[in-house]
Amino acid sequence: LPTVAIVGRPNVGKSTIFNRIVGERVSIVEDEPGVTRDRIYGTGEWLTNQFHVIDTGGIDIGDAPFLDEIRQQAEIAIEEADVIIFIVNGREGVTSADEEVAKILFRSKKPVVLAVNKVDNPEMRADIYEFYSLGFGDPFPISGSHGLGLGDMLDEAVRQFPENKGELYEDDVVKFCLIGRPNVGKSSLVNALLGEDRVIVSSVAGTTRDAIDSAYRYNGQDYVIIDTAGMRKKGKVYEKTEKYSVLRALKAIERSDVVLVVLDGEEGIREQDKRIAGYAHDAGRAIIVVVNKWDAVEKDDKTMKKFEQDIRDQFQFLDYAPIVFLSAKTRQRLGTLLPAIQTVSENHSMRVQSSILNEVILDAVSMNPAPSDKGRKLKVYYATQVAVKPPAFVVFVNEPELMHFSYERFLQNTIRQAFTFEGTPLKIIARKRK
Ligand code: GDP
Repeated sequence: LPTVAIVGRPNVGKSTIFNRIVGERVSIVEDEPGVTRDRIYGTGEWLTNQFHVIDTGGIDIGDAPFLDEIRQQAEIAIEEADVIIFIVNGREGVTSADEEVAKILFRSKKPVVLAVNKVDNPEMRADIYEFYSLGFGDPFPISGSHGLGLGDMLDEAVRQFPENKGELYEDDVVKFCLIGRPNVGKSSLVNALLGEDRVIVSSVAGTTRDAIDSAYRYNGQDYVIIDTAGMRKKGKVYEKTEKYSVLRALKAIERSDVVLVVLDGEEGIREQDKRIAGYAHDAGRAIIVVVNKWDAVEKDDKTMKKFEQDIRDQFQFLDYAPIVFLSAKTRQRLGTLLPAIQTVSENHSMRVQSSILNEVILDAVSMNPAPSDKGRKLKVYYATQVAVKPPAFVVFVNEPELMHFSYERFLQNTIRQAFTFEGTPLKIIARKRK
């Protein structure tokens, strides 16, 4: 069974929540110091998913100093758990001990569900926003003592179970796919990449019968090329039908971090190329535009600039994507692709420091305030990064309805100029600050 560990500094309500999940009142015997709570393991069930639960607060570490104790409990949780529920106290706000726990959990790369406890009534819900700064995405408001909000929290925990994620690879493996019309050279490119000198092809895995992913290691980083079986098969008449290839592309995009949008340099840009690229953009993936067959293009010194301009004009929504010109056939410029994949995937999962982010945003806003809308004016208070892959930023404002598309775009560009986010889309989410 999957294991869920409950983690957090003392007195945030871990045992109450543990008891709620396990569904029975467990009395905690604690007459003698050292002889502590005997129940730290239990079994829970949610939406037909059964799982083990550990209350790490019950793990006795001896008389280690306070911070060591919570550190060790977090380490145990990471070791044992598939999913970690990280509990903080909504009445006290973010403490340095919370930040300490967050740091350890963050490094582990395990899925973390952040629950803000002691939110006993709806008016208190506005207090949860400061917990975004812990960097685990949307916090779930709960009340252990009233049994509120636990369903949503468990929904998310269950969603993160390995068996429900259907993904074979660890989170630190960079997964990418190649999409594009039939015959642009996707299979040739995969073969060329896997034949690169510095690439060590390590294994082959598959999720479905007809999907074969190729794994390799380059420059100390593990990569998987998603679902290339169909691409690498000979005589793929079936795949050449448009409908089938779009379906295949969608599935591959779903499983990838980075998407290479492959164009045929000889044929130029087609309507279908834009549609396919649009899916990758909407899915929030990092993107590189690859112009293949550059060997077959008759060129002068302006050809590349012109092609680049065409791409910028026709794929305006991909203004953040780098463009790589190459030839799978002659391997010309092939060496520029691997570093590009590495760079955009790093940017896709990059976190920026809140203090610097706020300096940048508040500066930009004061130099360039939003135009007023029927006499009302948007006020921006502060911003915090809440997610990666793609990077997402919550901006706290007076009235979220006053945040228009163009101003959102302005904030995006501001963030892009201040940090190196080449290759990744960015999300801006306006939230009301009470
Ligand atoms: P896929 O359908 O996108 O996987 O495309 P393929 O890899 O099967 O390639 C389609 C055709 O384009 C084949 O005839 C390849 O030999 C050819 N091709 C692929 N890459 C290049 C390239 O860089 N230059 C040239 N001139 N031809 C290429």
